[in-house]
Amino acid sequence: MALELRPNCECCDKDLPPDSLAMICSFECTYCADCADKTLAGICPNCGGELVRRPIRPAAKLANNPASIKRIFKAEGCQPSRAA
Ligand SMILES: [Zn+2]
Ligand SMILES: [Zn+2]
Repeated sequence: MALELRPNCECCDKDLPPDSLAMICSFECTYCADCADKTLAGICPNCGGELVRRPIRPAAKLANNPASIKRIFKAEGCQPSRAA
């Protein structure tokens, strides 16, 4: 299974094309760099996991492994995770 390249930020619904800078957790929850850094402080609000830079899929590979077109937007879940 290829990584699911989601098309938008779950926090602010900003478009995140496959060649853009995006941040993901191990479950592929996807955020823009701004939200990941400023709002979420590098922690996924859904699973509490670490957000890391999403690798860019080479354009040649997108033909056979296209990015996801399913938008996921959960602004209500987009609070900074509380420190344990
Ligand atoms: Zn965002
Ligand atoms: Zn997550």
